Amino acid sequence: MFDRIAREKKTVEKMISIYCRYNHRTAELCNECSEMLSYAHNKLDKCPFGSDKPACNNCPVHCYRQQEKEKIKEIMRFAGPKMLTKHPFLAIMHLLDRNREVRDLKKQKK
Ligand code: SF4
Repeated sequence: MFDRIAREKKTVEKMISIYCRYNHRTAELCNECSEMLSYAHNKLDKCPFGSDKPACNNCPVHCYRQQEKEKIKEIMRFAGPKMLTKHPFLAIMHLLDRNREVRDLKKQKK
């Protein structure tokens, strides 16, 4: 359906959208959440693992700055359970991704 990076972008977009709607009570993404979404999309675009990436929470590199890392964890904790009913395909794929083996980045580049 989507390539891996495109699917992850969609998943993070839906999760931030759920989080923002419940917590910031705005019809559209607030500025803070828009910035978080742009940040996450940018990191996905530049992910050194490409389409073979592990789930970000299993990543040996973890490219997020500390503040954004804490924020995305908060968003995932809140929106994760709601994803199963609102976006079941993306939620299940996200859960499957969490079990992916973390490949050695050096070996992968050969
Ligand atoms: S945390 Fe790891 S898997 Fe996620 S985008 Fe950054 S480098 Fe890629």
